[in-house]
Amino acid sequence: MVNDFLFKLFLERKSLLKSPKPKEWRENMDFKLSKEQLLIQKTAREFADTILGPNREEIERTNDIPQIVFDSLCELELGGIPHDIEYGGGGGDYLSYALALEQMGRYSSGAASIVTANNLSMNALAKFGTEEQKRKWMADCLALKSFSSFAFTEPATGSDPKSIESTAKRDGDCFVINGTKRFITNAHLPGPMIIFAKDDTTGYPTAFLIEKFCEGYSISERWDKIGFLGSHVNDVYMKNIRIPAKNQIGDLGGGYKILRQNIAFGKLSISALALGRAQGSLEIAVDYAKNKTRRGVPISNYGTMKYRLAEMEINTEAVRTMVYRLAWIASNWTDLDQIAKESAKTKSFVTRVATDVCRDALQVLGSYAPMKEYRVEQLYRDSCIGELIEGVQDVQHMIIAGHMGLK
Ligand SMILES: Cc1cc2nc3c(=O)[nH]c(=O)nc-3n(C[C@H](O)[C@H](O)[C@H](O)COP(=O)(O)OP(=O)(O)OC[C@H]3O[C@@H](n4cnc5c(N)ncnc54)[C@H](O)[C@@H]3O)c2cc1C
Repeated sequence: MVNDFLFKLFLERKSLLKSPKPKEWRENMDFKLSKEQLLIQKTAREFADTILGPNREEIERTNDIPQIVFDSLCELELGGIPHDIEYGGGGGDYLSYALALEQMGRYSSGAASIVTANNLSMNALAKFGTEEQKRKWMADCLALKSFSSFAFTEPATGSDPKSIESTAKRDGDCFVINGTKRFITNAHLPGPMIIFAKDDTTGYPTAFLIEKFCEGYSISERWDKIGFLGSHVNDVYMKNIRIPAKNQIGDLGGGYKILRQNIAFGKLSISALALGRAQGSLEIAVDYAKNKTRRGVPISNYGTMKYRLAEMEINTEAVRTMVYRLAWIASNWTDLDQIAKESAKTKSFVTRVATDVCRDALQVLGSYAPMKEYRVEQLYRDSCIGELIEGVQDVQHMIIAGHMGLK
C-alpha cells in the first residue's frame, strides 16, 4: 500500500484529469502539430521551395517582388492565415501563421514582410476595430488585393510613443492629420494605413485609419537598405489629411495601449522569419560541409566543423521552441499585456540567436560565404535587420524588466 501522502497525490492527479485544463502553456505542453497546421506548413514549404526560392535572386537584384510571388501567395491564401474566416481570413491560429513565415524566412524575409506588415495592421483592426471597420477593410487586405501599413515610427522616435509629433485635430465630423512617418513598410502600395497621432483632446497618441494616396498623402523615395529586399520602406508625409471621425481606432488617447499590445503580434512575425533564416542557414551550411572536400575528405568530418554544425542545430531548435511557444500563447492567452511580455522575450532571444546561426554559417562557407549565389550573406543581412525592427534589443529588455517589477 502507498502512504497517505502519495495516495492524496494520486487522488489529486485523478481529479485534475477530470477538470478542464487551464490554458497555461506549462500545463498544456504538446508539441504535436494538428492536421491543419501540418497542411499549412507543407503548403508554405512547397511555396517557398518552388516559388520564393527560384525568384529569390530576382528579388535581391531588383529589390522588387515578381508578380508570380504575389499571385501564388493569393492563390494559396497565405496572406491572412490567423484571421477569422468571417472577415476574409484563413481561420488558422498563430502557430499556423508562424509555420508559414518560418518557411518564407528561409528564402526572403523581404517578400514575407509585405505579408507581415499587412497582418500587423489587420491584427490591430481585428482586436481594436469596430465591426464596420473590420467589414470595410479586412477582406481585401487579407486576400492581398490591397496592402495595409502600420505607421508608428517617426523621425524623432521608433521606440517612445510620448515623442511622436504627428497630430490629429478634430474638425466637426472629421479629424485633420498632419505629420511625418518614417520607414513605413508597404507605404507605396494602395490600401489602408493605421497611423498614430496625438489628438487635440487628450494630447496622447490615438490610432486612426487613413487611405494611402488620399489627398494630402505623399511618400519619399524608398530607403536604400541592406536587407529585407523586395519590401519597400518609405517616409510618409501627411499634410492636412481629412478622415471621417469614425476612422478612429479604439479610444481617444488609447493609441499607446494598441501599439504596445499589437506590436506583440508583429514580434511573433519577426521571430518566425528569424527562425526561417536560422533554419535556412543551417541547411546551407550542412549541405556545404558535406560536399566540400579537403584532401579528399568532406570538411564535415572535422571535429571542429561537427561541433559548429551541432551548435547551429541546437540554437535553431531553441529558437523554434520559443517561436512556437509564443505562437501558441498568442492564440490561447487573452491578456494582451502578458502576450506583449512574452513576445519581447521571444523577439530578443530569437532574433539574436538566429543571427548567431547565420554568422556560424558564414564561417562554415569561408570565402564562399560573401558570394551572393551561396545565399548565406543574404540571410545574414536580413538577420541584422530582424534584430532592429519591432523594437531594438534594449527596448525589449526594458519591457521585460518592467514586467519583473524593476523600476
Ligand atoms: C526594414 C524596416 C521596416 C520597418 N517597417 C516599419 C513599419 O512598417 N512601421 C513602423 O512604424 N516602423 C517601421 N520600421 C521602424 C522600426 O520599427 C524602428 O526603427 C525600430 O522600432 C527602432 O526604432 P528607432 O530606429 O527609432 O530607434 P530609437 O527608438 O531611436 O532607438 C535607438 C537606440 O536608442 C536606444 N533607446 C531608445 N529609447 C531608449 C530609452 N528610453 N532608454 C534606453 N535606450 C533607449 C535604443 O535601445 C536604441 O539602441 C521599420 C524599420 C526597418 C529597418
